[in-house]
Amino acid sequence: MPETIDTLFTNALVLTMDRDLTQYLPGAVAVKGDSIVAVGYEDEIKKGYSARESIDCSGKVLMPGLINAHTHVPMTLLRGLADDLRLDVWLMGYMMPVEREFVSPEFVRLGTLLACAEQIRSGITTFNDMYYFEEDVAKAAAEAGMRAVCGQTVMKFAAPDAASYEDSLAMARDFIQRWKDHPLIVPAVSPHAPYTCTAEILRATAELAKEFDVPLHTHLAETAFEVDNMRNENGMPVIPYVKKQGLLDAKLIAAHCVHVDVGEIRSLQHAGAGVAHNPSSNLKLASGFAPVMKMLETGLNVGIGTDGPASNNDLDMFEEVRLAAFIAKAMTNDPTSLPAPRALLMATRLGAQALHLGHLTGSVETGKRADLILVDVSPIHNSPSFKRGADNAYAQIVYAGKSTDVSDVMVNGKWLMRAHQLLTLKEDELLAQAAQIAKKIDAFLIEREQSVLSKLIALGGSLEQESFEVQVKVKITEAVPIIQALKRPEVEVIRQRHYREHDVYFFFDDPSQGRLRYREDDFIDDIKDIITNVRSRLTLIGRKREGAFENEVLLSRSRYIAPASQSLRFYREYFKPKSEIAIEKDRLRWLINYKNTEFFINLDEVTEPQLGYFLEIKSRTWSRTDAEHKAQLVSELLALLGASEGETVTDDYIDIVSAS
Ligand SMILES: [Zn+2]
Repeated sequence: MPETIDTLFTNALVLTMDRDLTQYLPGAVAVKGDSIVAVGYEDEIKKGYSARESIDCSGKVLMPGLINAHTHVPMTLLRGLADDLRLDVWLMGYMMPVEREFVSPEFVRLGTLLACAEQIRSGITTFNDMYYFEEDVAKAAAEAGMRAVCGQTVMKFAAPDAASYEDSLAMARDFIQRWKDHPLIVPAVSPHAPYTCTAEILRATAELAKEFDVPLHTHLAETAFEVDNMRNENGMPVIPYVKKQGLLDAKLIAAHCVHVDVGEIRSLQHAGAGVAHNPSSNLKLASGFAPVMKMLETGLNVGIGTDGPASNNDLDMFEEVRLAAFIAKAMTNDPTSLPAPRALLMATRLGAQALHLGHLTGSVETGKRADLILVDVSPIHNSPSFKRGADNAYAQIVYAGKSTDVSDVMVNGKWLMRAHQLLTLKEDELLAQAAQIAKKIDAFLIEREQSVLSKLIALGGSLEQESFEVQVKVKITEAVPIIQALKRPEVEVIRQRHYREHDVYFFFDDPSQGRLRYREDDFIDDIKDIITNVRSRLTLIGRKREGAFENEVLLSRSRYIAPASQSLRFYREYFKPKSEIAIEKDRLRWLINYKNTEFFINLDEVTEPQLGYFLEIKSRTWSRTDAEHKAQLVSELLALLGASEGETVTDDYIDIVSAS
């Protein structure tokens, strides 16, 4: 008496992707409930089962659904928003500001549903995600019927879904508790990357992942820049550093690992970590070439991921598998590297193992969940078919297959696509909603790009508007008499500093935008003659002067100041100035008390270009009466320091330089 099952696939070329890479032709697969109950040659399987539904797979390959080992699915809504930029400008200059403004549970839900539609169409049955409001990603993925590892992002910055890392960690804990027994969703925690987290955050996420035995999904060693910084700041490369924070004790899924050495690969393998290789993203962002062959030789579970659709820009695993094979060949200068069966293995069973889901999915084997796809290998771009060798079938899928050749998709025993028709999602509605959001994001960026100030604000961080200053600047010939005069009893020196200042001014087409100054202050310890500290700041200086007093004492311009957490190169690429001028000076700076009022005295030697010595006296002010009073004191101080005869300069150094 044959066993009754739900679905019987017959007349297929079955690529099981099991340990022996077994193929069956004509093959059959029996599905009951959510699982595969039998795989084998058609005539044998047919005898044992009677099915409610029989599928004739003539001309098609039946194989495990593809595993997208690393992505950020809601970013479908940011696809094509900003391209051809460096990683930092792309991330800090565009993605994060737009995300801060737009990302909400509704945004995440829509983006995920769009991504699920695209992924199902291209034969993906499982994806490993990292984003904000991850519980909404989980809900949408489950609704679409896909299997997913959903990692709630945790990082040191305020995020769209959390004001602090403690908040996002609490969200992750809640989410994991609620979803840990779901049939399709595996909840996870995702510290974004070592450079966006503190050591404390990394340790806390590792503890959380271990407590609930869930995966920890993060970005590691993506760029050489990241590794250089890690070496400079912590004296070690990325993998030993995260090992120190306990990440290797968790079920780690490490995206990228482009810049890792053999020792680091071994540590990852020892820890049973999974790696997600992202060929398109690494190529597009010029991150480098991951040592995939070395990883595979070491026995590491390496899957393939699309990365987010804003850095790829699609969720097409057929393209990724092909690129993975091509890159490995080009990198090793050896066309036998990463042959088609092994490349496809990375996108299926190895990928599932990398996500710590090897027991559930990734191959067509009895007992595993029924995550299956049918791929038509008869279209014009993939004909004819050769049957001579076992590898012919893999080559057909990897080198000539297209995502549009996927005709049918089943996840957990349930149909998600039949004959190219999506069954769980309404594409037309999703597309219309996506178009609406794109319109709003466009308007937001157009508005922001109109002014340097709004671009500065969009970067986030602690932007402050400096209070008004009373100031005077005088050209002097010698520094020593001023230094001597500061020892007079009327002047009380509160503190003295010595800096080397490197300024770069950005100029824009529209002069009313003001100019942006990037300043690096090197603090110098004169006794030890060393640089003790370096501080970088960005200052937006307007063109407008607020007022003038006697003796050319000025009320200074409005300024916006922000700590410069990025490199000069970052700001150059982000603000795109029309021109730049660099100025260097040696600055002795005193904070003094004169007649119960504090003043800053700057004694500058402008060395690049050589403009000579200048004396500046400044004091912050907040009212007209106060400003008048201080202007009077500034005049007195000028006389006291013997500089009242000097030529006053009403311009900034930059104006002197640009005028000459
Ligand atoms: Zn990523």
